Amino acid sequence: MPELPEVETSRRGIKPYILNKKVTDVIIRQKKLRWPIPAALKQQLIHQNIDKVERRGKYILLITQAGTVILHLGMSGSLRILNKSVNAEKHDHFDIVFSNNKILRLRDPRRFGAVLWTRKAPLKHKLLINLGPEPLNDEFTAQYLFDCSRNRKVAIKTFLMNSQIVVGVGNIYANESLFNAGINPKRLAHKISLARYEGLVSAIKDILKRAIEQGGTTLRDFTQQDGKPGYFQQTLLVYGRADQPCVSCGKTIKQIKQGQRSTFYCTHCQR
Ligand SMILES: [Zn+2]
Repeated sequence: MPELPEVETSRRGIKPYILNKKVTDVIIRQKKLRWPIPAALKQQLIHQNIDKVERRGKYILLITQAGTVILHLGMSGSLRILNKSVNAEKHDHFDIVFSNNKILRLRDPRRFGAVLWTRKAPLKHKLLINLGPEPLNDEFTAQYLFDCSRNRKVAIKTFLMNSQIVVGVGNIYANESLFNAGINPKRLAHKISLARYEGLVSAIKDILKRAIEQGGTTLRDFTQQDGKPGYFQQTLLVYGRADQPCVSCGKTIKQIKQGQRSTFYCTHCQR
């Protein structure tokens, strides 16, 4: 599943080709994504310039004078920049065609992605308005997490993965950052000290920054039909390592379920 670093890498990958470019056509081959692609989108987007290519959480925003396209990659979506002449394949559901004869193409085999349109301020859209801060912004601090957590009798891992608290800390990044910070994923959020939140916040920022830097090496893949842009493997210290020795102490990594998601941790290193 594309996580925040993959989405940010996608944004950086497509931006140079579509920024300040004029939309000449919109092709909808399959409108049934997570939500239907709105009927008004095509008519309102054609002839618009893309003024900004932004990201909020895991949503990519293509901002024009008339409104904003809100893109989400869902479970399996990916974006590519191709020449207009490249034939669409089975799961290529949506294209935006630009005046430079390039297209932005969404491929999404599982169709949990979304293409939406809003004429209002995009950050006020119902999907975006309740999102917590961006983890890499200065407003995301230990003090912020500490303050939010005081009345939360919920496991820290579940707390971190709540996008109303902070966006973009998906399952892999929650597992890895809790390992790096030495915090047991089952520990209750309201019982964690400010000092331990300091360690956790810097672990989250580090791991996301490293993933985005690594994604930078895949940017050229955005212009290749069969490239796999943005899906990069980081060295993972606990995620997916059930029953293997902890890289730090050698004890066996344990796997449990928390809210339907797999949690991996070291009972010795994470307290
Ligand atoms: Zn350990």
